[in-house]
Amino acid sequence: MTDFPADFLRHLKSAERVVVLTGAGVSQESGLRTFRDDPIGLWAQYKPEELATPEAFAANPKLVWDWYAWRREAAQNARPNAGHYALVELEKRVPQFTLVTQNVDGFHRAAGSQNVLELHGNIRRVRCSVCGAFADAWTDDGANVPTCLQCGGLLRPDVIWFGESLPQAELQSAVEAARICHVFFSIGTSVVVQPAASLARAAQKEGAVLVEINAETTPLTQTADFAFRGKSGEILPRLIEALTLPSR
Ligand code: NAD
Ligand code: ZN
Repeated sequence: MTDFPADFLRHLKSAERVVVLTGAGVSQESGLRTFRDDPIGLWAQYKPEELATPEAFAANPKLVWDWYAWRREAAQNARPNAGHYALVELEKRVPQFTLVTQNVDGFHRAAGSQNVLELHGNIRRVRCSVCGAFADAWTDDGANVPTCLQCGGLLRPDVIWFGESLPQAELQSAVEAARICHVFFSIGTSVVVQPAASLARAAQKEGAVLVEINAETTPLTQTADFAFRGKSGEILPRLIEALTLPSR
């Protein structure tokens, strides 16, 4: 017996193309803070929207570098959770599976997901703010923002900041996958940052079954065909279990 509606399971079992969009909520159970949770501690006085912008980096590169260094360390010291691993299992069961993430923590790939589109970059990588060269290693003396070996420009995290355009190839693939999928999941995202909301709506408009998994309600909850309230690290493993049970 499962507590998932039978018609939802039926849709999912017969779906050939599934898209999953994830946000900061899926990493919350790994111990990483979401942006819209109440901030505590060292960075409480800053809003992410004020730190995650090109203007903030230009005005105070050290502050922005340090904020990301702190988040990078948090990601490196944390591990994917049961929700990430359940999505790896889901990918194995679906002929065409696309995982679109707004997260920059790299956990989906670390867990073993294969077809991952990172719309907002990856905090584990850095690149030069001037010439764009990627850097795998850098020395952080704690006093200055590390600089590019090629041109001396300041290094920055390889993430997309507010006001910057998304990586076009990833975005195109995500839009295309959303348009042709049979089931679209929106998981652990507040869907307030575009293109999250438009991807979900485009999928539904083209006939996909829209499913939301979130600890709270969002602007998508009302229109979703199925909305499951709770933690993704608990709901997703139960879903995989339900998929393995014979249909009633
Ligand atoms: P958000 O902070 O706006 O929203 C998080 C959502 O997750 C909320 O709707 C909340 O109700 C839900 N949630 C919290 N805990 C949950 C759980 N255990 N299970 C299910 N749902 C849960 O995050 P967002 O929508 O991803 O968008 C904001 C931006 O934040 C993105 O651009 C993203 O790049 C960035 N961000 C990324 C990380 C990360 O990589 N881990 C962390 C913080 C912010
Ligand atoms: Zn450079």
